[in-house]
Amino acid sequence: MKPRLPLLLAIAGLAAAPLLLPQYYVTLMDYVGLAGLVTLGVVLLTGVAGLTSFGQAAFVGLGAYATALVTTAFGGSPWLGLAAGLTLTAVAALFLGFITLRLSDHYLPLGTIAWGISIYFVFGNLEFLGRHTGLTGIPSLSAFDWTFDTAGRLYPVIWLVLALALLSTSNLLDSRIGRAIRALRGHTRMAAGFGVDTGRLKIVVFVYSAMLASLSGWLYAHFLRYVSPAPFGVNAGIDYLFMAVIGGSQHVWGAVVGAAVMTFLQEWLKDILPHLLGRNGNYEIIVFGLLVIMLLHRTSDGLLPFLGRMIESDKRSGRPASARLLPQRPKLTPGEPLLSIDNVTKRFGALVAVNNLSFDVRAGEIVALIGPNGAGKSTLFDLTTGMLSASAGKIRFRGANIERATAHGIAKLGIGRTFQHPNLISEMSALENAAVGAYLRGKCGWIAAGLRLDRAEEAGLLDEAAARLKRVGLGAHLHDAAGSLPLGSQRILEIARALCADPLLLLLDEPAAGLRHLEKLALAELLRDLRDEGVSILLVEHDMKFLMDLADRVVVMEFGRRIAEGAPCEIQSNPAVLDAYLGGVE
Ligand code: ADP
Ligand code: MG
Repeated sequence: MKPRLPLLLAIAGLAAAPLLLPQYYVTLMDYVGLAGLVTLGVVLLTGVAGLTSFGQAAFVGLGAYATALVTTAFGGSPWLGLAAGLTLTAVAALFLGFITLRLSDHYLPLGTIAWGISIYFVFGNLEFLGRHTGLTGIPSLSAFDWTFDTAGRLYPVIWLVLALALLSTSNLLDSRIGRAIRALRGHTRMAAGFGVDTGRLKIVVFVYSAMLASLSGWLYAHFLRYVSPAPFGVNAGIDYLFMAVIGGSQHVWGAVVGAAVMTFLQEWLKDILPHLLGRNGNYEIIVFGLLVIMLLHRTSDGLLPFLGRMIESDKRSGRPASARLLPQRPKLTPGEPLLSIDNVTKRFGALVAVNNLSFDVRAGEIVALIGPNGAGKSTLFDLTTGMLSASAGKIRFRGANIERATAHGIAKLGIGRTFQHPNLISEMSALENAAVGAYLRGKCGWIAAGLRLDRAEEAGLLDEAAARLKRVGLGAHLHDAAGSLPLGSQRILEIARALCADPLLLLLDEPAAGLRHLEKLALAELLRDLRDEGVSILLVEHDMKFLMDLADRVVVMEFGRRIAEGAPCEIQSNPAVLDAYLGGVE
């Protein structure tokens, strides 16, 4: 909301640039725009989603070569070239994403390096692509009576495309899907637990960023009017990563800042360094390396924050939200079978974390799971929510077997959970974190989000999040960064997020840990109210006093086995339980 003026000045400056600047600088600005488009994809993919790609330049190359071939060898129009380039890129990125992203995040950087190197050799060795000399005679872009045949004429096209890409990417990040994308960096388990198909989302983000690169390649080919393999190697891929880091890899505008700084510095250093060092060579790469190290030393956020966050108006966390609930699922009849753990075993190598465990939770119950550290309680939660798969046994939820289901599939059935170690996106507000829980309660997709057609739905999701936060007592902290809250409040925020999923069964892993006495009383009251409203609860808790008036039943675990089960007052005096906790009855 705040500084709109600098943004307007920046836009005015950019618009006037081709009229005021000498030709040389207009050309450089074209390069900035082209690189900014690719870097925007890197910001989304690497900065926001945490997936590193060294192969973006290869996608630029695909876009460039596709249109070069279509317009020269086949005499097609540049528009056909664009369609061909985008299609080819989408197919290549889908394939590459499918084989690398499904394995593990570490395979993507390796896969993209291999991809970057091989595509470079393909361009350089195929006869019909002109080998290392490349393809020439590519026509200029034209539309209606306009021909964009000079740097100055192409300038508005490049920057308009970039502006639209910035706008739609920034819209996308400010949406339900955007929150899911931001959760991909370090919180995939959590996101999956709220219904995000994280494997698929990673691939779609990868394809989207590849398409931006390909679009840049298309513009590039019609700007230079010839293509050769050199600008599409892995070196160039690393340059785009540098640009994202230098500009600020968390912000869409960081892409423009990074592309501008790198492009201009590269030109100047190419002129200056040979004079300083007395010989030629790619010394600027050393300077960039040092610059990145210096920058990361000061901040991992790039240059953008130093520019006073002029454009990042933080509309996301500043939006007011009124507390209103979305329509909820029909509640279950109390006593109806809900969750059934049936002879479940989980082995980690030789360690048996859960050992032939069985117990049930019925609708309308609060069941407590207690047991010493390492007894296997959290592992059982992971098995129930599909974050781990059982080595043996059956898990049924409302009669359906879920021991082989995916985490996002189980979330759809109505199981919500919290994590023993709060799994929040620290730099995001409490409101947005809670709204991640409401992921499945929205439907708008990428295109709706990019075009901002999702506003009504988005307001509904944020209202739900606000209502849940107020309910758990965090109404005063809607816009605080989650990471700035005390640990106890973070646990409570996790409950609000789980409630946003409108669960039938709530799994709470040590929700009262770190709470003060009064906070514990408030939590117990909240949990009782929730049960009365039809939410069943399975919770891990050590404090028997806390459980006494709360739990309907207590299941006691030790070394993965169930050693006792019963009402809290029975459990309290059960010799086996005392033995497990105290090492013998006094
Ligand atoms: P609790 O929540 O009851 O304290 P956990 O379920 O966290 O216990 O752990 C049960 C046992 O399983 C512990 O011995 C723990 O070290 C082990 N464990 C948990 N997760 C893993 C894992 N991913 N790999 C190997 N061992 C694990
Ligand atoms: Mg645990």
